[in-house]
Amino acid sequence: MTSIRSIKGTQDILPDQSHRWQALEAAIRNTMGRYGYEEIRTPAFERTELFARGVGEETDIVSKEMYSWTDQGGEDLTLKPELTAPVARAYIQHNMGGQSPTNKLYYIDALFRRERPQKGRYRQFHQFGVEAFGSEHPEIDAEVIALAMAVFNGVGLSGLSLKLNSIGSPQCRGDYRDALRDFLTPHLNNLSETSQNRFEKNPLRMLDTKAPHEIEILKDAPNISDCWTQDDKDHFDEVCSLLDAMGISYDLAPNLVRGLDYYTRTTFEITSTALGAQDAICGGGRYDGLVETLGGKSTPGIGFAAGMERILLAMGDDTSTGHEPHIYIVGLGDTVRPTVLQLAESLRQNGLAVAFDVLRRSMKAQMREANKAGAKYAIIMGDQELESGQAEVKDLSTGDQQKVALDDLSSHMNSLSF
Ligand code: AMP
Repeated sequence: MTSIRSIKGTQDILPDQSHRWQALEAAIRNTMGRYGYEEIRTPAFERTELFARGVGEETDIVSKEMYSWTDQGGEDLTLKPELTAPVARAYIQHNMGGQSPTNKLYYIDALFRRERPQKGRYRQFHQFGVEAFGSEHPEIDAEVIALAMAVFNGVGLSGLSLKLNSIGSPQCRGDYRDALRDFLTPHLNNLSETSQNRFEKNPLRMLDTKAPHEIEILKDAPNISDCWTQDDKDHFDEVCSLLDAMGISYDLAPNLVRGLDYYTRTTFEITSTALGAQDAICGGGRYDGLVETLGGKSTPGIGFAAGMERILLAMGDDTSTGHEPHIYIVGLGDTVRPTVLQLAESLRQNGLAVAFDVLRRSMKAQMREANKAGAKYAIIMGDQELESGQAEVKDLSTGDQQKVALDDLSSHMNSLSF
């Protein structure tokens, strides 16, 4: 019979990798705690309409990449392809804004998008991110960006680059759309079909083009900053000066825009030179119109989402398994078995990580296993040791060996440094 394999674009996270995930998750939770962000967990699937409204029908995510189905009760459902819309939905549904003027939330979650799989791009992948609701002021923009950088720096990522822009208020974007159309009209015949469609529907998205001749044309295009209102400019200037005050460097990226109407003002992206073609680690921005779009009371908000597979790729591999036992008990013969298990249990209850052989192997094989597992000490116990009331304790890094009375073994092991 042929064996069943996993779906293309999904990954099993095996024990040789899961410890790296745990370390990353622990670093994220630790940083979130220090910045005062609390965890929110939302369901794996939602009504399809949430994403159509909350992400936008014209986005690639909604138009091409969602895993959607109609269930037995006739409801249109979708596996979540992003987290901002579900978190905003929960925020509205539970009246979180009514209970507190600001809500600083974070998540660590699995997402689903039917993209073309390649290194750093999967169909089930993981993001952590934050959504901060309730303040329109630049200090929260600066805090959210500082928080993203703190997580990445905290796990030792190098080659990071922060790109920053403001897409202004909805009025500014309306003006910019017109300016961009005016600029591009004489070039229309030279544009790809995709860009021509975007020209009609959403000209801001044309700035995302990867076609070299279009990038060339767009070099002379007006910048969105030309259309900022005075308030937009003041807001952006203050975000920049707060980042300067915190010593966070950034590059201005006039082409970094988001096409959807509920996005406002600050947008940012963080990339890493440690990655290949898929070098974006994190994207974020302000979305002052989103909560209202989803039927809530108008509430400002800002957030980001960061791809965890990419962070782990950028972190590189380490050799430790993260699960090395402190102690390996080498048990020889049938009579010692209860003593081995009782000792392991007592040491584990005292907080030590203990392993022992369950294949009834030879002394040599068990010692090999103890070394392979990376244990710091081996306790050797056979019939002889049991009879003499003493076990051998071997320091596996130095090779030093000493006899310890069975009665003292537990307290002796607890007194060692690991
Ligand atoms: P987005 O939600 O599209 O703004 O993406 C935010 C971050 O999630 C990106 O910067 C990537 O790090 C990561 N990401 C997005 N799509 C994928 C994917 N298909 N596979 C792995 N990571 C992804």
